[in-house]
Amino acid sequence: MADTVLIVEDEVALAQGIAFNLEQEGFRVEHLVSGEAGEARILDAAGALDLVLLDLMLPGIDGFTVLQRVRAAGCVTPIILLTARGEDVDVIRGLELGADDYVTKPFSVGQLVARMRAVLRRRPGGAAGSAPPAIRCGDATIDLERCAILRDGATHLLTATELEILNLLLDPPGKVVSRNEILDRVWGQGRYPSTRTVDNHVARIRKKLERDPAQPTALVTVHGVGYRLVLG
Ligand code: CA
Repeated sequence: MADTVLIVEDEVALAQGIAFNLEQEGFRVEHLVSGEAGEARILDAAGALDLVLLDLMLPGIDGFTVLQRVRAAGCVTPIILLTARGEDVDVIRGLELGADDYVTKPFSVGQLVARMRAVLRRRPGGAAGSAPPAIRCGDATIDLERCAILRDGATHLLTATELEILNLLLDPPGKVVSRNEILDRVWGQGRYPSTRTVDNHVARIRKKLERDPAQPTALVTVHGVGYRLVLG
C-alpha cells in the first residue's frame, strides 16, 4: 500500500510541485495550507498518515506550535520540517520539539525523497528483520515490536528517531555510543549543526523510560563519551 504523506505548507505552488513529484514516486499526498488544519488532521488521522512534511512559517499557528502540540498529545507520526536556508536555530528548535528530520528550501525532489525514505525506514514497524524481544531496562520494558516503552502500566509510543537511537544503544546491548556516532548513524554525516540535537532526543526518551528523568538510571550519560543503556 502506498504511504500517505501530509504536506502542511502555505506556499501553494511549492506544495503542488512537491505533491506532483511525490505522487510520481508512488506516495499518496494530502495538502493543507494552515497550521490549524494541519494540527487537526495529524491528531485525528489515527495512523492514516505515514509522514508529515511541515513548513515552519505558516499563517495562524506556526509549524513549531503544531509540532509541539501533536507531540505533547502523544502523536508519533514521523515529521520532517521544511525550513528556510540559514535557519540552523530553527532546525535545532524543531528537533528539540520532536521533529524527525528537516530539509532546507530550496531542495530537490531527490533530496526530499531520500530524507523521507530514511525516516520511513526507521519508523515504528518500518525496519526489516525479525521482531526483537521485549527488553527489561530498569523498571521499564522496551518493546521494539510495538515501538513503545511500557512503564507503570502506561504505554509510551516512540517516535522513529527515538526508536533508531534505542536500536543503536541495543546493538549490542549495553554498548557506549557517542553523540557523534548517533548523529552520523541516525541523520547522516555532517547534517547537523550540533550534538545538542542528540541530547534533546535522549531527554525525550528519558521522559518515557525513567521514573526520574533528571536522575537517569536506565539511559545513562557516560561523561565525555556518550550514552549507554543499563539493562536488566
Ligand atoms: Ca510558509
